[in-house]
Amino acid sequence: MGDCIFCKIANHEIPAEVLYEDDQVLAFRDLNPQAPVHFLVIPKIHIESVNALDDETFPVVQAVFKAVQILAKELNFADAGYRVVTNCGVDGGQTVGHLHYHVLAGRNLTWPPG
Ligand code: AMP
Repeated sequence: MGDCIFCKIANHEIPAEVLYEDDQVLAFRDLNPQAPVHFLVIPKIHIESVNALDDETFPVVQAVFKAVQILAKELNFADAGYRVVTNCGVDGGQTVGHLHYHVLAGRNLTWPPG
């Protein structure tokens, strides 16, 4: 998608602090961190949100969680715990229309979220 900021990050057209990359997904630090560790994992292909996943693209969710698991170990927060969340649509608080999973760690995360 031509004007999608996360597509541009996935294509390395605009800079990001990349933590992990494979053929399907990219992980990079969030610009506005909400926890000591806060990064996003995105599919490289443009998918608007969870609503747009289909039989062809569901496997990318597996690749996302594989990246989460690898980084949780690498960045040493797997044992302490963490949160993975994807916001969907207006009520979900989604501001960027490219599927992304927030990974938050490094502090005790409260529940429920706002
Ligand atoms: P959401 O509100 O769930 O759509 O989350 C979008 C997230 O993307 C926010 O946490 C932003 O801080 C983050 N974000 C937006 N632009 C960038 C960027 N260029 N690099 C890193 N994170 C970004």
